[in-house]
Amino acid sequence: MGFGCQECISTSQAESPPRQEEFPPDETMKITGEIYQVGGGGLSSPEDAAIYLIDFKGHGALVDAGCGHFHDRVMGNIKARGTKPDAIQYLLLTHCHYDHTGGAEDIRKATGCLVVAHEPDASFLEKGDDEVTAARWYGEKMEPLPVDRRLILPREEIPLGDRTLEAVHIPGHSPGSVVYLTESEGRRVLFGQDVHGPLDSSLLSNRDDYLRSLELIISLEADILCEGHYGIYRGKTEIENFVRSFM
Ligand SMILES: [Zn+2]
Repeated sequence: MGFGCQECISTSQAESPPRQEEFPPDETMKITGEIYQVGGGGLSSPEDAAIYLIDFKGHGALVDAGCGHFHDRVMGNIKARGTKPDAIQYLLLTHCHYDHTGGAEDIRKATGCLVVAHEPDASFLEKGDDEVTAARWYGEKMEPLPVDRRLILPREEIPLGDRTLEAVHIPGHSPGSVVYLTESEGRRVLFGQDVHGPLDSSLLSNRDDYLRSLELIISLEADILCEGHYGIYRGKTEIENFVRSFM
C-alpha cells in the first residue's frame, strides 16, 4: 500500500527513509539487464504499486500486478522491453493488497501465467475479501482471484528457465506477505514490495511479526531492493538503512 489517508499508522513514527535512486529519464525502467520496472512509479496508474518484470533469456515473471486500471499500458511496457506476453510464466504476488493484485486476472488472461501467492493471503484473494485485501480503501471490489500456486513454507524455490527465485515468507504488513529473491548479473535482487508497511488491524497486520520480518529481510543481504512504493535501493548499507528506518 502507498500513503493514503489511513496508511501512515506505523510509518508516521519512522524517520524519512533515504532517498531512492534516481534514474535518468531514458533508464527509468531498467534495474539490471534482465529486470525492469514496468508499472507503478509513473509508469502506469498512480494507485499502482510497482510492477517488476524479470526476463531470464525468454523465461519471464512479473512481480505484482497493480490495480489493473492501466492494464494496456503495463502490457505495452512489457512488450517495449522485448518480452512477449506468452513468455510470462508467473505472476508472483508479494501479498494480497489491491494496489498489488487488482490487475492480476487481466495479466493472467493476457499472458497465460500462473498466479503465485503465499498463505493466508492466497485465501483472502480467492475469497475476494474486500477488507483484508484493502480493496475497500481504494473504493474498489476485489473479485475472487484463483491462485494457481499457493506458497505455504517459510522459504520455497520457484524455477524460472535454468534459474531460480526464492520466495521468503515475511508476515507482518499482511499475514501472507512474501519477498522474492533472485540473482541477476552477479547481484542479489530482492523484491520487497511493502517493506515500509503500514500496519493496520483491518489488514490483519502484526507488529511483532513485522519487526522479525524486517530483520529477516536485512539478513538476506540483497544488493538491490525493489520496493513497492519507494523505488529502487542499491547497496547493502543503503538497503539496511532503509529497512531499519521502519523499526
Ligand atoms: Zn500492502
